[in-house]
Amino acid sequence: MSEQNKVDAVVVGAGFSGLYLLHLLRKNGFSTRVFERGDDVGGTWYWNRYPGARCDVESMQYSYSFDEELQQEWRWPEKYSSQPEILAYLQHVAERFDLRKDITLETAVTSAHYDEAAKRWDIETDTGEQVSAQFFIMATGCISTANMPNIPNIDGFTGNIYHTGNWPHEKIDFTGQRVAVIGTGSSAIQSIPVIAAEAAHLTVFQRTPHWTVPARNVPMTDEYERSWKDDYAEKRANMRGSMSGSLRAVAPIDVSALDVTDEEREEAYRERWAAGGMTLLRSYNDLLTSNEANETAASWVRQRIKATVNDPKTAELLAPKTYPLGTKRLCLDTDYYETYNRDNVDLVDIASAPIDRLTATGLETGGRTYEFDSIVLATGFDAMTGTLLRVDIQGRGGLTLKEKWHAGPRTYLGLMTEGFPNLFTITGPGSPSVKSNMLTSIEQHAEWVTDALIRLRDQNIASMEAERAAEDDWTDHVQEVADQTLFPKANSWYMGANIPGKPRLFMPYLGGVGAYRERCDEIAAAGYEGFRLEGSEADAAAAE
Ligand code: NAP
Repeated sequence: MSEQNKVDAVVVGAGFSGLYLLHLLRKNGFSTRVFERGDDVGGTWYWNRYPGARCDVESMQYSYSFDEELQQEWRWPEKYSSQPEILAYLQHVAERFDLRKDITLETAVTSAHYDEAAKRWDIETDTGEQVSAQFFIMATGCISTANMPNIPNIDGFTGNIYHTGNWPHEKIDFTGQRVAVIGTGSSAIQSIPVIAAEAAHLTVFQRTPHWTVPARNVPMTDEYERSWKDDYAEKRANMRGSMSGSLRAVAPIDVSALDVTDEEREEAYRERWAAGGMTLLRSYNDLLTSNEANETAASWVRQRIKATVNDPKTAELLAPKTYPLGTKRLCLDTDYYETYNRDNVDLVDIASAPIDRLTATGLETGGRTYEFDSIVLATGFDAMTGTLLRVDIQGRGGLTLKEKWHAGPRTYLGLMTEGFPNLFTITGPGSPSVKSNMLTSIEQHAEWVTDALIRLRDQNIASMEAERAAEDDWTDHVQEVADQTLFPKANSWYMGANIPGKPRLFMPYLGGVGAYRERCDEIAAAGYEGFRLEGSEADAAAAE
């Protein structure tokens, strides 16, 4: 096997996680290869190019913090960046840190089998390449496998059909077209106003209304940019120690929503609605733990919907009623509800009558046939585990990750799983991941894993593996924390509930980014408590 094909680490994915890992590993002397199935770097921001795609974490916070010059020099044009801006940033990072030479594009890792004797991973790609690596790191993101809905005759539609998570690279021009959007999650809520402005007619098919609040995106001002850049060190430190890995525009009020007067609550919600962003969800300390408290905010938002949407029937349909505010990922929008006041936009409820089938020229539902030129599937992702399980990963004794996780993912800290030594998952299930600012969590994971690899190398340790007891305790802990909240009440992708047959359990860790980081650091400081560390077979034989 050539030197190029025998490396210290293989990393899968060249998005935010993979790029930073490559930088860190190489800087610390680990030979590393990154495989990326796209034809460029960018991960999520490479694939999700749908109209209106934009991040709803502020750019000053949704950016790398590891390089002071980079964070000072890069200029974000808007408060919340659009997909092309973020992709340009990632391309810049790849050039700036000379990362491309170790990234193999248009190449998906198809299998990774652990060789117990060699304590190494044998990895294969869809281009037929075989690589041996001591460490195998899945940096594949949490929402990277598109969910194709099981609508009958989906292949029979002869018009254009797109999935938001796998959008073509050329501009799609909907001018003059009759367009359908299926789904009303974050991707739909961002794309609907943009498509509506272009298409002749847009019909939105909604199964469950999602909660959404205004983003209030604005061009970046010099003053706002300076307020971050002048104080980045402290602000980033506060982000790392925070609950969500980000700082809120308006501070949370640390009392129950039920312990204030109606007037105070009205004022608090009004202020946060005006400020925009996720901040509304943390107005009070029990909005995500008490049904009654949550309902105060939920009914307030329902009133906003009624006040905005002219047609009372449409407004009623758009108002979520079946799950608490924020327990499916809260969406941020720009003129979402206002879009339903346009003459060329209709909303169709498919909760009462599902889509029966696609036809060659449209779709049938509720006894009616609709004709379209283009259909946009905004139907989400097989989140958190879908991409990990798509690869044939076999650990000790030939156990597959699929078998191991048949009843749901089991991890220690979301970083490792027992039976799969030297396999790390960046922002894996059981870590704060999607319940945090991903950038804060990605940097923490990449740094923790790199530190662990350095420690293993320094101490001549060949393999690291989660212990069963530690994994069981952590997996139970993740569920216990979730069960103290309202999150399990929603049929969300956090729960795996959007994919038929997927085990239903809450996958991300809700204990908070700061507390989680502390726990990871304590475990490392205690000599990687809960992990089994083993020398090589050769060392063991020599010791006998
Ligand atoms: P999503 O939140 O899972 O929404 C999927 C939508 O499709 C839901 O409305 C769902 O309805 C509907 N759907 C799924 N299968 C269907 C079927 N067979 N028939 C009819 N409707 C169906 O997916 P997403 O909007 O792509 O967002 C996923 C996540 O990506 C977000 O929650 C967020 O974390 C991230 N994201 C972030 C941004 C951002 O930063 N701005 C933008 C986009 C996405 P049900 O609710 O009834 O299942």
